[in-house]
Amino acid sequence: MAAWIQTVDGPVPADLAGTVLAHEHLWAAFGAASGDPDLELTCDAEIMADLAEAAGAGVRTVVDVTTADMGANAERTAVLARAAGIQAVKSTGWFRSPTVDPAVDGRSAAEIADRLIEDVLDGTAGCLGEVGLTATAPTPAEEQVLDATAMAARATGVGVMLHTDDARNGEALVEALLDRGVPAGRLLVGHARSADPLEWHVALLERGCVLGFDQNGHPQRDPVGRVAARVHCLLERVAPARIVLSSDVGRRSRLRAFGGSGYASGPLAVLDALRSAGVADTLLDGLRGRTAAAFLAIDEAA
Ligand SMILES: [Zn+2]
Repeated sequence: MAAWIQTVDGPVPADLAGTVLAHEHLWAAFGAASGDPDLELTCDAEIMADLAEAAGAGVRTVVDVTTADMGANAERTAVLARAAGIQAVKSTGWFRSPTVDPAVDGRSAAEIADRLIEDVLDGTAGCLGEVGLTATAPTPAEEQVLDATAMAARATGVGVMLHTDDARNGEALVEALLDRGVPAGRLLVGHARSADPLEWHVALLERGCVLGFDQNGHPQRDPVGRVAARVHCLLERVAPARIVLSSDVGRRSRLRAFGGSGYASGPLAVLDALRSAGVADTLLDGLRGRTAAAFLAIDEAA
């Protein structure tokens, strides 16, 4: 096995990743810590129904980027994915202030990193994050998390999932991780949006970062047509443009049972729009899963 992705049920050859949703939340008990009850994504039956629908629509692999301070539960993620017939890759890591502050208080970055490395080495996790900043300058707790995340990325070779709020905050996070020695190719810059400067997206791709248009189907984010137009433009500007798609279901209200559109319909609609616009099949294959699989791939030599 030359390159594999580390799923919750063990290693899977990267070329069997299939259609990938690169930035999701399968289970997140984040209601109390965030103060937003809609972020309490713990309703098994409704989550499972939407995952099963995604599997029926052709999704093979889903990455759950829920962090410890978001109330991650790797066992629940594994149970839900198995029941829905989907391969899950679980991340390990910490999000940002203020929810991360009590967890890292009094701990060294090396101690935090050791736990992340253990999660990757024991097969629990296949990537790191999602990590974010509350502003552009990290809080002391965010400094610890950035240091630990970078140590774990360097030690294990797995990729880091980045949460961004806008281009300024996103660029500060990218630079903080590059400064700490994480290679650009191991950074998946999530939550790209059409309001971001086009030239920032081009620069990220040219540096070798992966760009995630990962909030498709979110009622307060870009509609399908706008995402497809930006992705199409980037595919024409940069080669290879390493872009992935997802829906970032992190709220109850994104589930079908509560009025949302579920996990798969947004990303698949973007692919349909790009196909209709004449984008070549090889590029569509990259967006559908090949790029995400390459990002998640752990090489024999790593
Ligand atoms: Zn996020």
